[in-house]
Amino acid sequence: MSKKWVYLFTEGNSTMRELLGGKGAGVAEMTRTGVPVPPGFTITTEACNAYYESGKNVPDGLWDQAKAAMHEVEKQVGRKFGDPSNPLLVSVRSGARESMPGMMDTVLNLGLNAATLDGLATQTGNPRFAADAYRRFVQLFGKIVLGADGEKLEHVMNEAKGKNRTDTDLSAEELRAIADKFKQIIKADTGNDFPEDPEQQLHMAVMAVFNSWMGRRAIDYRRIEKIPDNIGTGVNVQTMVFGNMGDDSATGVAFTRNPATGENEMFGEYLINAQGEDVVAGIRTPKPISQMARELPKSSEEFLQIARKLEAHYKDVQDVEFTIERGKLWMLQTRNGKRTGMAAVRIAVDLVEEGVIDKKTALSRVKPEMLNQFLFPIVDAKAATAAQKLAIGLAAGPGAASGKVCFDPDRAAEWAEKGEVVILVRTETAPEDFHGMVAAAAILTARGGLTSHAAVVARQMGKCCVCGCGDIDIDYHKGVFTVGDVSVKEGDFITVDGHSGTVYNGQINTSESEVIQVIRGTLKPEQSVLYGYFFKFLGWADEVRTMGVRANADTPTDARVARMFGAQGIGLCRTEHMFFEGDRIDAIRQMIVASSLNERKAALAKVEPLQQADFEGLFTEMDGFPVTIRTLDPPLHEFLPHGEHEIDALAAKMGISAELLKNKVESLREANPMLGFRGCRLGIEYPEITEMQARAIFRAVVAVKKRGITVLPEVMIPLVSDVSELRIQKAIVVRVAQEVKAESGVDFEYMVGTMLELPRACVTADKIAQEAEFFSFGTNDLTQTTFGMSRDDAGRFLPKYVEQKLLPEDPFQVLDQAGVGQLVKMGVERGRSTRAGMKTGICGEHGGEPASVKFCHNAGLNYVSCSPYRVVIARLAAAQAVLEAAK
Ligand code: PEP
Ligand code: MG
Repeated sequence: MSKKWVYLFTEGNSTMRELLGGKGAGVAEMTRTGVPVPPGFTITTEACNAYYESGKNVPDGLWDQAKAAMHEVEKQVGRKFGDPSNPLLVSVRSGARESMPGMMDTVLNLGLNAATLDGLATQTGNPRFAADAYRRFVQLFGKIVLGADGEKLEHVMNEAKGKNRTDTDLSAEELRAIADKFKQIIKADTGNDFPEDPEQQLHMAVMAVFNSWMGRRAIDYRRIEKIPDNIGTGVNVQTMVFGNMGDDSATGVAFTRNPATGENEMFGEYLINAQGEDVVAGIRTPKPISQMARELPKSSEEFLQIARKLEAHYKDVQDVEFTIERGKLWMLQTRNGKRTGMAAVRIAVDLVEEGVIDKKTALSRVKPEMLNQFLFPIVDAKAATAAQKLAIGLAAGPGAASGKVCFDPDRAAEWAEKGEVVILVRTETAPEDFHGMVAAAAILTARGGLTSHAAVVARQMGKCCVCGCGDIDIDYHKGVFTVGDVSVKEGDFITVDGHSGTVYNGQINTSESEVIQVIRGTLKPEQSVLYGYFFKFLGWADEVRTMGVRANADTPTDARVARMFGAQGIGLCRTEHMFFEGDRIDAIRQMIVASSLNERKAALAKVEPLQQADFEGLFTEMDGFPVTIRTLDPPLHEFLPHGEHEIDALAAKMGISAELLKNKVESLREANPMLGFRGCRLGIEYPEITEMQARAIFRAVVAVKKRGITVLPEVMIPLVSDVSELRIQKAIVVRVAQEVKAESGVDFEYMVGTMLELPRACVTADKIAQEAEFFSFGTNDLTQTTFGMSRDDAGRFLPKYVEQKLLPEDPFQVLDQAGVGQLVKMGVERGRSTRAGMKTGICGEHGGEPASVKFCHNAGLNYVSCSPYRVVIARLAAAQAVLEAAK
């Protein structure tokens, strides 16, 4: 007995997603719950995997089982596959575990040939309809399964229609003639005769779906969405129903809530007398679903009821496809609807408040990165009023972008690689354009509705998109689009506003999102619905998470923003980032080039009050929260000029000879600056620098304390590899603290700790913990030194590593759990073996990356620290870590 490769829709249910794919499990569940679904069967994802494992051989027993299932379907619908008098036609669609909209191929009307075509004409009493179905079948099958050139086929259609006619104006005879022409082109293109035997058609279509799993667009999509390659796709074979059988027929797609904003309103589109592909491909611009109640009242009512029932059943927004065939409603598909980040949060919050789901479920439904969308730019309102409005289309994906028009996806990818901001402008998009859409900052299409390919894909990527912008007329050959008498050439700038659907000529400043405006104080919280949802949701994350979230901030402004995003302190202040402000760099440079201790001290004396003022600003913003200040870290040459002219100018300004300065710059040059004279090595060579910084910190503490501010300073020594380095630096800090307490008569608390950012530090963390009161993992340097890959130069070869899957991700973005992560764990464990319950955190870039945040939670860190704008992402990821650990 061979394995069971085929399941009738009546045999499956929603728990069988892995085996049947999302679509297969969805139709099976609908069938089970009594929703009207055209009968069919699903070939399992295991069959697809077996196909690849055996070097592209269909597994034993599959065709027999498919045949038996087809007989069952025939019984259910009372028609026969391949029967000339009463033919059963089917669609063949892919359906993986994760939905991959538009990424895989679909064949419709399969089962038609010269004989069954006549049968269909009789069965429906509509020869034109039958001829049109055949034309569509030959076109799709020819392109997708046989690999003929789709554009040539499309050209035949366009020729036949001429300038003034549409598809529906073509007669039965014309359509048959077109199908014959298609067959000739297919034969010329591929060398194959068009298969007449329905069973052979079925076999070829199923294999085409299997093959499309490893097609370029599917692979690209999986890479972006981080879907594994080895889960395979199911194949769904389903009885055809027709939305193009007259004015009592229709087809549509809908979301049970608005997928762009999350508002609780049925959101979708339909077309009377049309087939599903017409809606999705955007060939005709469909009508909003709210109009259906007027045009098809009975079906509309039934549809609304079923859609609501499905949402309640799945306890989540459903994205449904339906067809009305001569007044009879059929549901073709349901799946959890893809949505923008803004919609995801709003829907999750609303569903909790409606009592449908609990808060924990709500938190697990939003991918942390999606919160970024709340922080998206918008077109500057003032500039927009003054700008030339080109056209208005449908607002399909949020955000706003100004960039160069590009009409070709390949070129868009090339330009983006060179660092250009590109707006991809297409009549409509197709799955093969995916790589160009990924590369573009925004997408603009002339045709297609809010559920067209461009809209669905853009929204999911969180990309700015305006679609169905019918006023623009694109001429790909000339490389220009026109709106009225305005022409915009490829390479010209336009601005796309995905919030309002407006397209502007030229570049317009974009400005912050509503949330950012509230944060900046230019909008009141109560004026923004989004803001309310955003922070309510994040509040729920805070109820769940146990790990703290701090921010890396160097200025009071950053600190304020970080607080508003909910940061519970500063995890890293890179003191040197303030060195470039104003003319303070002069004093720093004097300090660096000083040739004696006295000269250096004189220069440091100028820097000290500036640093103290900076720290006072930070402490004030962070009233009541800890602030970790790191002593000087980077290689000193970063602060010196390198060009001849700049050196001359600086020497003149400093009143020293250019020769002397040149020599100094030269003496600081290092072959490997990232592994050179930096970190605590600076403070060991020049203890007066650490001393000055410590004094600035503690005097700032005293000053703000006197103003009633609660300060929790943590002094952090960087790039320590041995406890002796920390001991000597800590002694300076402790001595200065005593001196400041004595001079001011003010007592204060403080901590001295270190960064763990070298492998040796992690290995000897038990020793280092004898001195360190806290650890903060500098995973940027720790990644660099663990891999032995320069963080400045790895960009040259790392992308290749990821592409070739030598590494799953760029380890500078996503923490390498197997290597660097183990050093982090070792550091925590060894540190705490010396100092029980020792406070540990992370302040490398990974502190704001969701998977890394989750790892940090599991490794027992007390907090993560990340850039202010990623604080919200870290809050949610930290909550999800708790929920996932509890599973
Ligand atoms: C680190 O190394 O992870 C770190 C936070 O310090 P920096 O990036 O400043 O070297
Ligand atoms: Mg570092």
